[in-house]
Parts: sequence; C-alpha cells; structure tokens
Amino acid sequence: MTTVRTRFAPSPTGFIHLGNIRSALYPWAFARHNHGAFVLRIEDTDLERSTPEAVQVILEGMEWLGLDYDEGPFYQMQRMDRYREVLEQLKAAGHVYPCYMSVEALDALREEQRARGEKPRYDGRWRPEPGKVLPEPPAGVQPVLRFKNPLAGSVVWEDAVKGRIEISNEELDDLVIARPDGTPTYNFCVVVDDIDMDITHVIRGDDHVNNTPRQINIFEALGKQPPIYAHLPTVLNDQGEKMSKRNGAMSVVQYRDEGFLPEAVVNYLARLGWAHGDAEVFSREQFVTWFDLDHLGKSPAQHNPEKLLWMNNQYLKQADNDRLAGLTESFLQKAGVSIEGGPSLAGVVALFKDRANTIKDIAASAEMFYRKPVPSDADVAQHMTDTARAAVKDLGAALAALPEWTKAAISPAFKATLAQHGMKMPQLAMPVRLLVVGTTHTPAIDAVLELLGRDTVLARLGA
Ligand code: GLU
Repeated sequence: MTTVRTRFAPSPTGFIHLGNIRSALYPWAFARHNHGAFVLRIEDTDLERSTPEAVQVILEGMEWLGLDYDEGPFYQMQRMDRYREVLEQLKAAGHVYPCYMSVEALDALREEQRARGEKPRYDGRWRPEPGKVLPEPPAGVQPVLRFKNPLAGSVVWEDAVKGRIEISNEELDDLVIARPDGTPTYNFCVVVDDIDMDITHVIRGDDHVNNTPRQINIFEALGKQPPIYAHLPTVLNDQGEKMSKRNGAMSVVQYRDEGFLPEAVVNYLARLGWAHGDAEVFSREQFVTWFDLDHLGKSPAQHNPEKLLWMNNQYLKQADNDRLAGLTESFLQKAGVSIEGGPSLAGVVALFKDRANTIKDIAASAEMFYRKPVPSDADVAQHMTDTARAAVKDLGAALAALPEWTKAAISPAFKATLAQHGMKMPQLAMPVRLLVVGTTHTPAIDAVLELLGRDTVLARLGA
C-alpha cells in the first residue's frame, strides 16, 4: 500500500485567513489519519505579490494551530533549477514548442474571438504538426514555451468531493509553461512539485478545478500518474461572499491575538465543510481518527463568527487555569496592567472563564483585580449611603475576626452583617464591590474577597 502524502501549498500573496488555513487542516488531518506525511510548500513564484510577512503568517498560523508538517517548508523559488531540468525533459520529448506570438497579437486574436462569440483561446499557430509549415520566427523575439495539450479526447478524474469530472481537451488550449526569460509558470511548477514530493492526494480549494485538467495532462506528458484530487468548496464569509482579505477577513494569527484558543479554531474549522454525524465539540485526536474525504461538504461552507465565539467558550470552560492565566497575562501586559502583588491570576481566570468568549474578555474582566479601585461618582452616590457605610464597617470587623479566609467563612460573615442591619444582599454587596474593586459588576462577592486576600480587603474597606 502506498503511503498517503498530502501537502498544503499556499501562495504568500496575502495574509492567510480561516478559509485558506482550512486547506491546510484537511490535508494535515488526512495525512495524520492515514499515518502518512504532510508537506508544506510555499508557492512564492509571484515575485510582485509574495511577501516575507505573508510567509511568516503561514508559518506562525500553522504552528499556532498545531498543523505540524513532516517535510518542508519548500520554497518554489529555490527549485527553479529543478523546473528548468524537467522543462528540458519535456522539450526533448517533444511536448513543448516555442511560440513567438506577441502579447498584442494574442490580445487582438482574443478580441476577434470574443466578437464572434467564441471562447478566447490560443489558436495553435506555432504548434508544430506533421506537414505544417510554421511561420518564420521574428528576429530578436524570445519565445514563450507552450505545452502541447492533446487535441482530442478528454481529461477525466474522480474528484473525491465533486465526483467524476470530465473536461474535453478541445476546451484546453496550449498552456504557456515557460515565460520568454525561461522562468516556468504556475501550473507546471505545481506538477513538478507534486511529482517530486510524491503527493498522493491533492486536497485544495475548488478555485483550482480549472487548473486540474491542465495539470493532469502535464503529469501524463511526464509519464506520471496524477494524484487523487479533492476540491474543497469555498468558504463564504458571514455576508455570504467568498471569504477574502479584501472584504475584511482576518488573518489566522489575528484570531490568536483576539484571544481564541487554537484547539477551538481547529474544531471550528474542522466543522466548516466536514461533518462526523452531528458531533460539534471534539478533540484534535477524535478529529484525526474520524477524518475522511467521504464526508466533506459539497456546497460552500459559511463562516459564522458567533459559532466560533461559542466554540471558543466551550474550550475556555474546560481549559487549565494555569494555562489560561499565562495567556491572559500577556493581554493584561498589553493593556499596561501588572499582576504583581495582586491575587493569583489562575484563581481570577477561574472566576471568569465560564462566561468569557475569548481570553481578551477574561483579561478585560480580570483587570479589576489588579488596578486601584476607582469607583465612579455616580456609583458612589447610588450605593455608598450612610446605612451602607455603617454596615461596611461592621462587616470589616467581622471579616477581620474570621478564623480562616475562605469563601465558606466569608459568606456567613456577610449574612450576619445583613441580619444585624436588616439589609438585603445587594445593599451591602454593591458598596463592598465598589470599595474593593471599583465596580458593581463582579463575580460572586465571597469569591472576589477570597481571591483578593484579607489584607487587601480590610485595607480597602477601611477596616
Ligand atoms: N498556491 C495555490 C493557492 O494558494 C494552491 C495550489 C494548490 O494547492 O495546488 O491557491
């Protein structure tokens, strides 16, 4: 049995977004499921649009999501000699020919074809055929090299997502596979790479379906068996448009910076175009165990930001507090908040994580534990009544006398003070909150006091 080998082959021409990285997740999962290999290849031949920053986002994004690759990253720009070598093989075997048609002449031809209502295509005028007399090559012109696409028959493949696809060779004109300066073009490089990297399954976006018959013909010209193709339907944004940077898609690493957990994003992406029954929340291991090409969706998947937030909350709830504390601390640092001298951040995180959608939310809530409490005048006016002040004083004394500082001990001290002053819980809890953390919105007051510690609480209550 051949080993499954898949690849992710992004072009670093923009920051990869969720839709793009899903094209890494699925081949990764397929390789892992089959104990095969996953290869990363950076398709950086578009020199004008490729940037090192975009490469960085790819590498960082994959690392963050735990999409480890067994080979690579390979950079196409570093493989030019290899492409030239294979080009020579194709030339020697008579599969390519020089074409001297100028860009202007080609444009004019296309214009005429369109005017006649035909599909614009190269007319094969420089294609050598037995008995055909070719024009005289113009002086001083460097030709492009065109691939001799078969004239008859059709290209057929069984797409693992879309089913059988058949494209007549009549639809395919002779593809330019090398530019006048000899540099190879996109479809050719992809084929050489997929051959050299022994790729068995090409799992990629269906924006490449049109390239596939051309690539298959090149495979065949090189005497190689094409891989199995699985073309994934597009990911739409929440507006129902194709997800793209141009209409506001965030880069993958921005999700990290917004406080999403990588395992939540992986789980979310896994479900964006693939299903295992109605399983929604599942681990990376379960995903790898279950993943196959048979349950890939056939229609476009739509990104749902609300669902992603919900998913993140599912993972925050079960995440280890120390781990979350580490992540939360970096958000606090960015906000200029130091946790030094404050309560245990892991304890604080535990109070907020169930209701938070992101680490950013947790950090925003946690701040109250590490800043000097500065209640608003309006809150003070509303809650710090004379009766409240008197009760706070008595509460302070009761808290000071507690044998131990735990929620379980703090709670009865509250109840006793309330009874003593004939007050309801909020009438005392609100002023206490204002004094100890500066805001009326906090988790349960006994938990807050426990975390802050007795010394801080008594000092802030003025006891
Ligand atoms: N480089 C292509 C892209 O980013 C993918 C090519 C492929 O997967 O074959 O769209």
